[in-house]
Amino acid sequence: MDPHSDSSREPAQRSDPKLYAHTLRFRCGACKEPLALSFKSADRNPEKSAVSVFYLLCECRWLKRALGMEAVGHDVSPCGGVREEKGKAFW
Ligand SMILES: [Zn+2]
Repeated sequence: MDPHSDSSREPAQRSDPKLYAHTLRFRCGACKEPLALSFKSADRNPEKSAVSVFYLLCECRWLKRALGMEAVGHDVSPCGGVREEKGKAFW
């Protein structure tokens, strides 16, 4: 497509293609409801996301731009791994 984008895409990593599922937990500043968001990263280190910006949107329409370090909780689990706790409450 674009021949100039040379370094944007890397071929699939051979050694360790593992991804980690990160779950950040926040709390709504208005209604105090828990908010959680998840993302996948090849990096297991939660500190990498500490300076990332996340957009939180609560059901009450509370909207906030938050840094990862503002999260009240951060879970990391191997992706495609064993225990995915679906259908459970966030807290
Ligand atoms: Zn809210």
